[in-house]
Amino acid sequence: MDFYVILGVERGASGTEVERAYTRLARRYHPDINPGDSEAAAFFRRVTDAYQTLRNPERRRAYDEQGEPRTTVRRTSVEFRGFDFSTPVSGASATFGELFSELLPDASGSGAPEAGGDLHGEITLSFEESLRGAVRQLTVTRLDACAACGGSGVRRAAERGCAACQGSGATQWRRGHMVFSKACAACGGSGRQRQRPCTACRAEGTAAVTEQIRVQVPAGVADGSRLRVPGKGNAAPRGGPAGDLYITAAVEPHRLFRRDGDDLLLEVPVDVHEAALGADIRIPTIDGSTTLRVPAGTQSGARLRLPALGVPARDGARGDLVAEVRIVVPRPEDERSRDLLREFGRINPAGSRQHLFTE
Ligand SMILES: [Zn+2]
Ligand SMILES: [Zn+2]
Repeated sequence: MDFYVILGVERGASGTEVERAYTRLARRYHPDINPGDSEAAAFFRRVTDAYQTLRNPERRRAYDEQGEPRTTVRRTSVEFRGFDFSTPVSGASATFGELFSELLPDASGSGAPEAGGDLHGEITLSFEESLRGAVRQLTVTRLDACAACGGSGVRRAAERGCAACQGSGATQWRRGHMVFSKACAACGGSGRQRQRPCTACRAEGTAAVTEQIRVQVPAGVADGSRLRVPGKGNAAPRGGPAGDLYITAAVEPHRLFRRDGDDLLLEVPVDVHEAALGADIRIPTIDGSTTLRVPAGTQSGARLRLPALGVPARDGARGDLVAEVRIVVPRPEDERSRDLLREFGRINPAGSRQHLFTE
């Protein structure tokens, strides 16, 4: 799985963003926090792998260029058939590399089945949809396996001798005095052919289709995060593994709420008397409303935390709702209110600036 997807960061994410994503995930999936949970442990290992690659600029560059390290190496079974001194070696003697190039798995990947390309799409979600999850139908034009040949590129045909190996089932080649042979690739070593190229797809094994793809967007998806629909990229030529469909989610901003990781931030105006004396006030939440207890003496900029009213997280937990207090200073229009404020000032002579003048 893509390291960026695992960490939930964009491809252009800065080192700090990678760091922050890792810290957040590590806090949630660390084995110490989830004793005995093997799924969490497995995910934590992947998160750590992804982090160790992406935090190192050199390794990250290599990863960006080459993708994930290949884990499968296809082996070709080649038999060394012995030495043949019947023919003189012509030309310069072969180098070791040339000699064995046909024995080694082809680094370019042409020996292994070619994988289909990934496709990329985008969806826009309202803020609420991003929190609750959503289902989207996407119309995607992609290469699918050819219906006529099932993606193999070949059709069954009347049996005949293999043309590639003249029916022997093996291909031979020589390097100097050494003779090698391997099973004929065209007939799989049988010497017989029961197939002909598929005409519907010109032996490619793929055909373009337009498909409706249902995308389940999980609750709590963040702006810019990528969703992967496995196997819905392009089909690979001749039956290799299909690519994946990646969907980038764009989340529209909300009128009131902002998102900070799994927390939701809400700026809450609080009147002077409420902040000074303390008050229970009604504030909106993403699912309705709730009562926020403002303690007596609350200052502007204070952050009051309401647990589990934030963004639904992957593990079923929820982030917090954080109320950011903004004290609203009154502008009294009437003499009575102004008198009360003057009176208040007389009883409470200003002491709030003393520290500006003392060392
Ligand atoms: Zn076909
Ligand atoms: Zn053959």
